[in-house]
Amino acid sequence: MVAEVRTVAFQGMDVLDIDVQVQIASGLPAFSIVGLADKAVAESKERVRAALHALGLSMPPKRLTVNLAPADVAKEGSHYDLPIALGLLAAMEIIPKEELAECLVLGELSLDGRIREVSGVLPAAMHANGHDLGLICPLPCANEARWAGDLEILAADGLLPLINHFKGTQTIADYKALPKDSANDEQASPERYPDMAQIKGQENAKRALEIAAVGGHNLLMVGPPGAGKSMMAAALPGILPDLTAKESLDVSMIHSLVGALPEGGLLRKRPYRDPHHSASQPALIGGGQKVKPGEISLAHNGVLFLDELPEFQRATLESLRQPLENGQTLVARANMHATYPAEFQLIAAMNPCRCGYMGDADQECTRAPKCGQDYQNKISGPFMDRMDIQIEVPAVSLADITSARPSEDSAIIKQRVIAARDIQYARSEDYFNGAQILNCRLSTAQIEQICILDEPSRKMVNDYAEKTKMSARGYYRVLRVARSIADLYGDADIHLKKQYVAEALSYRRRFV
Ligand SMILES: [Zn+2]
Repeated sequence: MVAEVRTVAFQGMDVLDIDVQVQIASGLPAFSIVGLADKAVAESKERVRAALHALGLSMPPKRLTVNLAPADVAKEGSHYDLPIALGLLAAMEIIPKEELAECLVLGELSLDGRIREVSGVLPAAMHANGHDLGLICPLPCANEARWAGDLEILAADGLLPLINHFKGTQTIADYKALPKDSANDEQASPERYPDMAQIKGQENAKRALEIAAVGGHNLLMVGPPGAGKSMMAAALPGILPDLTAKESLDVSMIHSLVGALPEGGLLRKRPYRDPHHSASQPALIGGGQKVKPGEISLAHNGVLFLDELPEFQRATLESLRQPLENGQTLVARANMHATYPAEFQLIAAMNPCRCGYMGDADQECTRAPKCGQDYQNKISGPFMDRMDIQIEVPAVSLADITSARPSEDSAIIKQRVIAARDIQYARSEDYFNGAQILNCRLSTAQIEQICILDEPSRKMVNDYAEKTKMSARGYYRVLRVARSIADLYGDADIHLKKQYVAEALSYRRRFV
């Protein structure tokens, strides 16, 4: 007797069809799982056995073989428990086989027969919907699945209700509810991002932050402890436009893969990730024991903040270079590799020197300038090159703190950012076949088309490049930032004025 149940495997953002084939044959009692399964899948056996036992069902004293096909796709995770259990129940003729043919199944079993939540339900549901299949999933994941569209969703919290449903003694209705839209609770708590108005002084840094927001540029802040660098980074998502529906879905799919979606909701706010400097390379880039997205992918369409930049392992920072260029990350392992999207905006902060006080008027660094040189040399040239905007964030003066001058709040700045982005999108649609391209993602060929310099500006950039040994990559990064400055002024002309270029150059100063 052979029964088949459909489930999926995840490879990067790709969802692959997996057939769970369960055979019961005569022979010595045995239970084996074959088909490139990892440890968590191999352990399914014990969970399935215990879950059936908890329901008073014993395994037939025969030869049970579970094959996960195709065999050349690596299977990871615990979501195979439920398809294996249902396949077994069908093979034992406890539930009818035909009922399972039109559904994708995923879920983990606990020893008492309950169905526990698993990661990846949203991408699996999207896949099911695209193939006209229904979905059988754990109850806590049902809301997440519902975002995939109007597919049939059978959500159960235990194996018993599912068995009863298939035997016709109890009906589980198609899951409908979408009550918990995370957008709602977010609107109720707008203070999740610090407001720019709370940041006293630092007018230069705020200006730089606004330009970074306009074009999605990477930003490095250098300044003593307590200058408010972290607070400014945390305020950035609050001046970025809201996620579009598509961006929200893309981001939610990635978070679903690591089981990090808020219960029942899509992510509606721009991601803001601030991993600690002790974070490992796999944690940041993706991969590790299991092939899964890292911080840079969880920050997709949002902000990645790296505080104390020189304290990160050098190799970890270097591995960020590729994703910073092409907006995706490749996680390679012996038996599979996976690509995850990683279009994030990098905001980094560091002290000017190891002790933190170099250049401070009140507390002088005793080992300057070597203290600072050694510290800043921990960041490689090519990495530094990718920081489009580099600014000094000085200590806040008492005058700033006590100043009664009102600061602009995030909502006002956000409107300017949105207006400047509208200019970018309108222009890139005109020039590049309707594509909406953010300034930070313009290719060099595209820059040549829409960031045109006059002779004096060109000479200014060339002189600067010669003096500071700026690379070609640095040259194009300056033009991208100058483009954003023009857009912020509402100047859509493809010819860049000298003042924009000069301001962009001022953000590439070196600190030692
Ligand atoms: Zn120092």
